[in-house]
Amino acid sequence: MTATPAAPLTNWARTLTFGARAVHRPGSVAELQELVRTSERIRALGTGHSFSRVADTTADLVSVAGLPPTVEIDPARSRVTVAAGVRYGELAERLHRAGLALRAMASLPHISVAGACATGTHGSGVTNQGLASAVSAVELVTGDGELRTLSRADDPEDFPGAVVALGSLGVVVRLTLDVVPTYDVSQVVYEDLPATSLGQDELDEVLAGAYSVSLFTRWRGDDVDQVWLKHRPDDAGTDQPWAPRATTFHGARLAAGPVHPVPGMPAESCTVQGGDPGPWHERLPHFRAAFTPSSGEEIQSEYLVARADAAAALTALRGLRERVAPVLHVSEVRTVAADDLWLSPAYGRDSVALHFTWHKDPGGVAAVLPAVEEALAPYAPRPHWGKVFTIAPDVVRSAYPRIGDFAALADHLDPTGTFRNDFVDTYLPPR
Ligand SMILES: Cc1cc2nc3c(=O)[nH]c(=O)nc-3n(C[C@H](O)[C@H](O)[C@H](O)COP(=O)(O)OP(=O)(O)OC[C@H]3O[C@@H](n4cnc5c(N)ncnc54)[C@H](O)[C@@H]3O)c2cc1C
Repeated sequence: MTATPAAPLTNWARTLTFGARAVHRPGSVAELQELVRTSERIRALGTGHSFSRVADTTADLVSVAGLPPTVEIDPARSRVTVAAGVRYGELAERLHRAGLALRAMASLPHISVAGACATGTHGSGVTNQGLASAVSAVELVTGDGELRTLSRADDPEDFPGAVVALGSLGVVVRLTLDVVPTYDVSQVVYEDLPATSLGQDELDEVLAGAYSVSLFTRWRGDDVDQVWLKHRPDDAGTDQPWAPRATTFHGARLAAGPVHPVPGMPAESCTVQGGDPGPWHERLPHFRAAFTPSSGEEIQSEYLVARADAAAALTALRGLRERVAPVLHVSEVRTVAADDLWLSPAYGRDSVALHFTWHKDPGGVAAVLPAVEEALAPYAPRPHWGKVFTIAPDVVRSAYPRIGDFAALADHLDPTGTFRNDFVDTYLPPR
């Protein structure tokens, strides 16, 4: 097993330096079990794409990237069992080759399956739940070094607490995910969606205008800069007919060519636009695996509120645009269907996700975040666990009705607090 001093280890965006005393990279589950057994405190690390200190620790950090990257596809049962450190991009290619697919992907394929599911990562679509909702079983090493499996079928009481768990129940080594037959997606981008299309009724239509919809705005004016529509040409059930080359969409104009959501960044790092259908995993993420996603020079924040409050929340944010715009690359608005996972930001609530890709300016971002959060406060925002926020811990907790059940599950699976860190102690203190 490799163990290295952690001094220069940072998150992907190099906005955080991890405080770990050592970083371990076991090559087998048995090595990982031994490591956990002999470590007083340990945190799992995925691909390090989080902006919050959710993965950080001053004790041991363990990367699961060295575990065998197994992908076991079971077409008969429409499921796949995948090693925790496998990235979505790799998993997606394997599934597509086997004629299978995931229902949703995040904006980037670079993130690990376990790390993404642990924080409630999501894509977009009024009928698409977050990525963790595809999980039907997790296999994890708990504090005593034992390997345990929790599944939706066999552990219906605890399972909803075990997937979006912020790494605080154990080190996940494998996950089983539900899959569907492979499908094509056609991606089209429109520009300058007029503010008149942002009242709640029309906004509902806009956000349901394709299988997955993203709005991008820099808050420079009243219009939305870009609308990304990801259609499923095979989706006969939708009331939105597939018309990939329609020249307008709710008043927005078809983009003249490929675009990047972040001004100044090259469109070639984005997935194919222009309406030609292609495999789901080459269109659902915005960014291509071989390129740097987003800007790279950034900090991110995101808040989920009820979809029914989308228009009001956007109006509230528009009131702050003179403070927000100077520190912002771009904002993204997406939808996430309600789920039953206790710590999921979309728990029990069809949601709209209001995202901010900020400049890499920690001071500027810290100055504007409280104002953003105050503007959203009437809508009980739930912050993305993997992004930066300043909402008071008791207010965060009050947005999660099953938080007490999660604390009980954590007490049960991790009675000695082996997997806790400052972030978990702050937002999910022990009972
Ligand atoms: C450019 C960019 C684009 C993004 N786009 C989106 C998006 O479209 N939608 C969205 O919702 N989010 C998005 N995010 C946020 C990102 O998806 C989350 O932060 C996600 O958790 C990152 O996964 P990771 O593998 O890097 O996990 P890490 O950041 O490494 O870890 C996150 C958490 O997972 C835990 N963890 C990791 N591996 C394990 C394991 N094996 N066992 C137990 N716990 C584990 C860690 O302890 C930590 O608590 C984006 C981030 C970036 C940088």
